[in-house]
Amino acid sequence: MFPEAFIKRLRANLGEEDAASLLETMQSPAPVTVRINPSKISDPSAETDLPVSSPLSASRFGYLLSERPVFTNDPLFQAGCYYVQEASSMVLEHYFAYGNTDVPLNVLDLCAAPGGKSTHLLTLLRNIPGSLLVSNEVIGSRVTVLADNIARWGALNVVVTNSDPADFRRLEGFFDIVLIDAPCSGEGMFRKDERAVAEWSEENVKLCAARQRRIIADAVGSLKPGGLLIYSTCTFNREENEDTTTWISSEYDMRLLEQNHYYPGEEYGEGLFMAALRKSGKSTKTNIRSTAFKSYKGTIPFIKEGYIPVLKGDLVKVYPADCAERMQFIESKLKTIKSGTAAATVLTDRRGGVTLVPEPDLAFSEALRRGEESFHEVAISFDEAGRYMRCEAMTFPDAPKGYLLLTYRNHPLGFVKNIGSRANSLWPTSRRIRIGLQ
Ligand code: SAM
Repeated sequence: MFPEAFIKRLRANLGEEDAASLLETMQSPAPVTVRINPSKISDPSAETDLPVSSPLSASRFGYLLSERPVFTNDPLFQAGCYYVQEASSMVLEHYFAYGNTDVPLNVLDLCAAPGGKSTHLLTLLRNIPGSLLVSNEVIGSRVTVLADNIARWGALNVVVTNSDPADFRRLEGFFDIVLIDAPCSGEGMFRKDERAVAEWSEENVKLCAARQRRIIADAVGSLKPGGLLIYSTCTFNREENEDTTTWISSEYDMRLLEQNHYYPGEEYGEGLFMAALRKSGKSTKTNIRSTAFKSYKGTIPFIKEGYIPVLKGDLVKVYPADCAERMQFIESKLKTIKSGTAAATVLTDRRGGVTLVPEPDLAFSEALRRGEESFHEVAISFDEAGRYMRCEAMTFPDAPKGYLLLTYRNHPLGFVKNIGSRANSLWPTSRRIRIGLQ
C-alpha cells in the first residue's frame, strides 16, 4: 500500500477522481516498452523476436510489447539493437526538439545511469554531424552499467564520465543542451519498485528537492547562453517539479518553454515530469584548448574511414574525426570511464611482429568495418549465442584460425580466437549472462 501522506498529496493536487484513477493504475502491472536503435534495426516486428504490439506516440523509436521476454537472453538486446525503457521517458524526443539542431551540438546528460536517456540522445544526435554527448554518472557503482549500455549502442561520439556535478563548473559555457534527469523521491517508480514506496516520506521529498537545486546550481554554468536545459524527475510532487523550475527561472534568468507531467496510465508510461528552459543571452562559440594526440601509425584494416586511432599505452582507441578534439578536452577535465571505442590491444612479439587483438566493444561499434578486409565472420544460432554469452567453450572447425567475428542475425556480437581445436571467447566475463536458455 502507498503512504497515507502521499495519497493525501495526490488528492490535493489532482482532485478526488483523477487521484483515485491514478492510484488504481499504479496497482496494475506495468506495461513493457522498448526503444529500438535505428542504427542497427528499423522494424522490430520483422527483425527481432520481440512480441511487438504497437508503436508508441512518445517516440519514433518506441514500441509496446504484449509481454515481457527474458531480455538478457536475447542476443539482439546484448548487441544493442534495442533498449528496454518505460514509455514516458521517451518524451525526451519532444523536449530535445527545442534545441537548435542545425549545428553540431555539445550535449550533457548529467545524471545518466543506467543510460536510457543517453542512448536516446545518441539516436537523436545521429542526424546532427559533429555532435558530442557527455554521459555522466556520479555514483561509481552505477557507471559500469552505463558504460556497457553506451558501448552496446555503438555510437562513438560519446564520453562516459564519473564526475561530481561540481566538476562541471570547469566547463563554463561548453554545452548547447544540458539534461538533468535528477535523483528524486521516485513516486513514478512505486508500481515497479517496492523500495521506492518504503523510502518515501515528506522529509525525503524535501531532501530530494534541496539536492536537485544543488545539482542544478553546479551544472547551470556549463550551459551556453541561449542553450537548452531539460529538467526531469520520475516523481509527481510540486516541490521537486514546478517549484524547482520556478526557482530555476528566477535564479538563473531562464525562460520556461514547456513543462508537463506524464502519469502512469497515459501512453503506457510509469510517470515522469519534464521541462525545457532556455538560458538567456546569445549563443557563443566554445573555446577549447586541445591536447596533442598520439595517433596510432600502423594500419588498422578493420576500422572504417572517418575515425582517428589513438594509442593509449598498448590500447588503440578510436574517435570520430569530427569531435576527437572536444573528446580529448573533456577527458582532460573530467574523470573519464570510456571515450570513443576501445578497438584493439597491440601485442608485439620478440621479432617486432604486431598483432592487434580486437576489444569486445569494437564488435558493437559503428567504427567496425565489415567485409573481406576485416574479420572473418561466423553466423551463429540463438543457442550458440547463449553459449557464447555464458562464456562456454565453443568450436568452429570449418572457420580459419585467428580472430573471428560472431554475428547473430547479421548483428556483430563479439570475437573469439579460433585456435582450431577450440575457440577462446573474448566476451568479457563481467558481461557473462547467468541464466539458461528459455
Ligand atoms: N537518466 C537515467 C536514465 O534515463 O537511464 C536515469 C537517472 S536516475 C533518475 C538519477 C541518477 O542520478 C541516478 O543514476 C543516480 O545515481 C544519480 N545521482 C544520485 N545522486 C546524485 C547527485 N548528488 N548528483 C548527481 N547525480 C546523482
